[in-house]
Amino acid sequence: MPINIILAGPRGKMGKEAIQMIENESDFNLAAVIDHKNEGKLLKDIVEDSAANIPVYTNPDTCFKEIEADVFIDLTTPESGYMHTKLAIANNLRAVIGTSGFTEEKISELKELADEKKLGCIIAPNFAIGAVLMMKFSKMAAAYFPDVEIIEMHHDQKVDAPSGTAIKTAEMIRNNRRSKQQGHPNETSNLEGARGAELDGMHIHSIRLPGLVAHQEVIFGGPGQVLSIKHDSMNRDSFMQGIQTSVYKVMEMDSLVYGLENIL
Ligand code: NAP
Repeated sequence: MPINIILAGPRGKMGKEAIQMIENESDFNLAAVIDHKNEGKLLKDIVEDSAANIPVYTNPDTCFKEIEADVFIDLTTPESGYMHTKLAIANNLRAVIGTSGFTEEKISELKELADEKKLGCIIAPNFAIGAVLMMKFSKMAAAYFPDVEIIEMHHDQKVDAPSGTAIKTAEMIRNNRRSKQQGHPNETSNLEGARGAELDGMHIHSIRLPGLVAHQEVIFGGPGQVLSIKHDSMNRDSFMQGIQTSVYKVMEMDSLVYGLENIL
């Protein structure tokens, strides 16, 4: 029996890659897509590379009620992604959420809803396996190097900053690092924002430029040495292996997990 999937965000950069991934995986079947435009059309009418006669829904609740599916994948925006996920769980669908920018409160709320229904769900700000390793190595290094800054770089169409990956990395570092306010105690900024965002005394810097995809460098400084841990996603194909693995995993899980590192 194939795993029937509903995908939100089919016209987006990630959504288009995900359609290819689903079409190439013989155990997956794309049952419907959710788009906030194009009600009543078919996937082939809205995505150039697809010949599929798959229905497009603008109303997620109608889609979840009318289409029999196992897994919901969201690759949209933080506001709609959160609303879609809440509705998917209410309609007993497992979820694989790639959309980034959910607050800690929203993730906790979704976890409570999914766990109550014993539904397997994964929310991951980064589905690239190399990025997950970068976060794990950074957490290891944090035990020895409490002084650290994160530089994340993305394409200029990204709406949230800092990236979900940068926040997740800082959270993982925080769990393994002696709490510390970094830099000079009397430091000032001559231009607002010069030192970036702050989490537990760590600084996070966000760069947005055309040409970039998703990149992050975690730089640790210690007496007489600097350690840099860097990951680059050269294209969106880098995220698809993680999404594919997660679809299989949620079918066996009975709670919501945040972060790909927790299921690998
Ligand atoms: P994108 O190209 O801007 O695509 C987003 C798509 O969502 C657009 O087609 C947009 O339609 C659509 N959309 C907006 N509101 C919607 C709604 N209410 N219902 C259905 N569709 C809606 O962005 P992207 O690069 O594909 O990224 C999508 C998300 O994935 C972002 O949150 C990004 O940060 C995240 N991301 C995650 C990973 C990961 O590994 N977890 C990797 C890369 C990106 P319009 O064009 O009409 O607005």
